[in-house]
Amino acid sequence: MASVNIADVRKNYGQVEVLHGVDIDIKDGEFVILVGPSGCGKSTLLRMIAGLEGVSSGDIAIGGRVVNDVAPKNRDIAMVFQSYALYPHMTVEANMGFSLQLAKAPKEQVLRRVREAAQILGLENLLDRYPRHLSGGQRQRVAMGRAIVRQPQVFLFDEPLSNLDAKLRVQMRAEIKQLHQRLKTTTVYVTHDQIEAMTMADRIVVMHDGVVEQIGSPLELYDRPANLFVAGFIGSPGMNFLRGRLGTSEKPEFTGSGGARLQLPAGMKVSPDVEVVLGIRPEHLMLVETGIQAEVVIVEPTGSETQIFARLGDDEVVCTTRDRINVRPGDMLALQPDYSKLHLFDAETGARLHC
Ligand code: ADP
Ligand code: MG
Repeated sequence: MASVNIADVRKNYGQVEVLHGVDIDIKDGEFVILVGPSGCGKSTLLRMIAGLEGVSSGDIAIGGRVVNDVAPKNRDIAMVFQSYALYPHMTVEANMGFSLQLAKAPKEQVLRRVREAAQILGLENLLDRYPRHLSGGQRQRVAMGRAIVRQPQVFLFDEPLSNLDAKLRVQMRAEIKQLHQRLKTTTVYVTHDQIEAMTMADRIVVMHDGVVEQIGSPLELYDRPANLFVAGFIGSPGMNFLRGRLGTSEKPEFTGSGGARLQLPAGMKVSPDVEVVLGIRPEHLMLVETGIQAEVVIVEPTGSETQIFARLGDDEVVCTTRDRINVRPGDMLALQPDYSKLHLFDAETGARLHC
């Protein structure tokens, strides 16, 4: 196992810079997920760790050794891709053992490691099958098995679950997490799916347009997003945002440009007359007897909870409740935020304001 240290790493394709100075320190044994919208540079960064792409500037170190000029096969990493890239003419056993065979490992060692990996992944009964006779989930497991037999210092995953249906994705998510708890191999995992990131990672790196927006544990990112981008990206349904201005510290009040008015808790440190964005997570917007008036637009029951989209002045907000409530589009609701859970951001820079 090994740490992975990424220091001021940049990547250019010709004149275009797609990674603008990325710093990430991944501890030995950690499960870190790179998450962000499509095109933000996740795969590029992962492929640079793997050595499949060169580093334009900065350093990447694995286990304390700078590997910028080290060939992929000498980096002691194993990568699992979205397209499993199994050899169709080889059995599961041959697919899993192939890299060790290539490395001229003794036959008994190959056999033993393949058997161990097959046992970990529940593939013992499928070793003689060919990939075309496997389900998507089984193929995914073989691709992971192929990585496991190499006993690398670092696992690299690039959207490994994207080709699976929703139910299987949830199952494989749990399996990969368990696998990590068992093997404790340092893992860097790329996904665009924030739920995947939240549920699996020790720490999440949120990326956007080639920069790191925030690094933290899942709940740190959820509870204290550093900026509007992270606040909006993490969480589903997303955080409600209301643009407006604050009153004075003596009389902290939020006046939304859409018409919403909120008394803020006394003593809340605010800078008067700054354009702000107030953020409220849907579960922190409660239905009350008397509160801010909002008109119901859409009601979406999911069973465990109900999402209610409502108009608040010119803004639309969503609140979630676990109660069974009987409301219809057009009805008026009274809402009240949980004041201890409000988020404030600078409207211009998007940065979190202390609150
Ligand atoms: P992600 O994996 O987050 O979706 P990528 O790392 O694949 O994003 O791509 C990041 C950016 O780099 C994109 O704008 C993409 O178009 C660009 N890019 C990726 N590979 C190349 C390449 N070989 N040549 C030029 N541009 C590339
Ligand atoms: Mg990608």
